[in-house]
Amino acid sequence: MKNFISSRNKYEKCTAKEAIIKGLSKDGGLFVPENFGTEKFDIADFINLSYQEMAYKVMSLFFDDFTKDELETCIKKAYEKNFSSDDISPVSKIGKDYMLELYHGPTSAFKDIALTILPYLLKTAYKDENKKIYILTATSGDTGKAALEGFKNVEGTYITVFYPNKGVSLIQEKQMNTTVGNNVEVVSINGNFDDCQKLVKTCYEKIESSEVQLSSANSINIGRLIPQVVYYFKAYSDLVKKQEIEINEKVNFVVPTGNFGNILAGYFAKVLGCPIDKLICASNENNILTDFIKTGVYDRNREFFTTISPSMDILISSNLERLLFILSDYDDVKIAKYMESLAKTGKYVIDRDLLTEIQKTFEAYYCSEEECRATIRDVFNEDKRLIDTHTAVAYAASKKIRNGNKNIILSTASPYKFCNNVLSSLKGYRKKNEFDAMRELENLSGEQAPKNLKEIENIPNLHNKNIEIKDGINIVLERIEKLK
Ligand SMILES: *Cc1c(COP(=O)(O)O)cnc(C)c1O
Repeated sequence: MKNFISSRNKYEKCTAKEAIIKGLSKDGGLFVPENFGTEKFDIADFINLSYQEMAYKVMSLFFDDFTKDELETCIKKAYEKNFSSDDISPVSKIGKDYMLELYHGPTSAFKDIALTILPYLLKTAYKDENKKIYILTATSGDTGKAALEGFKNVEGTYITVFYPNKGVSLIQEKQMNTTVGNNVEVVSINGNFDDCQKLVKTCYEKIESSEVQLSSANSINIGRLIPQVVYYFKAYSDLVKKQEIEINEKVNFVVPTGNFGNILAGYFAKVLGCPIDKLICASNENNILTDFIKTGVYDRNREFFTTISPSMDILISSNLERLLFILSDYDDVKIAKYMESLAKTGKYVIDRDLLTEIQKTFEAYYCSEEECRATIRDVFNEDKRLIDTHTAVAYAASKKIRNGNKNIILSTASPYKFCNNVLSSLKGYRKKNEFDAMRELENLSGEQAPKNLKEIENIPNLHNKNIEIKDGINIVLERIEKLK
């Protein structure tokens, strides 16, 4: 059976089911598959599979303590009806590049791909236990709604989402605050995403309950990460099928990055045999990852910017820890030291060898707010397509970093989640009401905004709790008391 080990103590082992239930290791480390990289797929075996079949192939490798029937049932429930495209993640051509469209799910962001399946994985993993599952989620905007949709009314599970007050788009906020469900709670925090994520991590470390099992819907959960590996194989196979690339031809993926989950899934795909050359890490003005990939210095002692691509306004990219652990040959002592240094001084510096390993695969670029806006405008003028503010950051990076391979840009959200910022990028003006901006964008593009976004206009807000950072842990403790 495949074990998962903690990035801060490799003797801390558990099964896939246990790792999915726990989310994070007790020592604060992230779970990583043991002996990762010893197995490889042949890309030729993927070309004619459906998304669901690919999902089974990838997930069964990691989640091998699920039976075939269990895993197939999870996949079927997640990907049968929730997506508006049968392909789940179609690829289209855009300019010289390709766009992997990851926003056709129930909340119009790429988080849906993993968060439609995570509740089923978790319920399956947990079916023999009689504790209640309590999901804590920090969100920079999109994870929150996708997790709420995934977990709402799922029996035996309870969820609280923490989001940064003023750190998400108006549509994202409205999406979360209109969620109906008997087990959901939404709380805004007077802080930024890093504060929300830290709060959640602190709860795992500090809270022990015999009646309630805490778990996570963030990409620190391996049950989030592995399902995201699938669409890299799907995109590659689609391009082979459309004869846009030869089989085994190397491609680059350009990924708009925040918590480093999406791009890490790309790295997993590469190690598993997807013919990927470079993974290009695209950031906004919170460019800590650009600096890190170029210099090996991770330093969060810098100004935090609130940008028009809020889901990437992050200074502590959790999943980077997994990459460092894997590329340092599972040197848990070293990783624990880096992370301690990050917690104490806000900074760590990796050694040369490790940096060289990272640079073999990763390149980085960051884009200013102005460049992001100009990119949205250019793509609309040249291709007649609306792209969202996060996709635009990746598109800008794709224009700058070319090495002869085809670039595939991950399009992570619908432009209709960021209406006024997209509209003002195109036209130079905003609308007072976000939904008027949505209608204006529909007129410009000649297409309809996704139904899930249009319909929240007339639903009243059901959640409006706003708290200080320090009160977060009490919110969680109070809810646990009620669940007992
Ligand atoms: C979450 C998110 C990102 C960043 O993804 P990570 O996995 O956190 O790196 C980028 N774009 C959008 C629209 C997102 O919701």
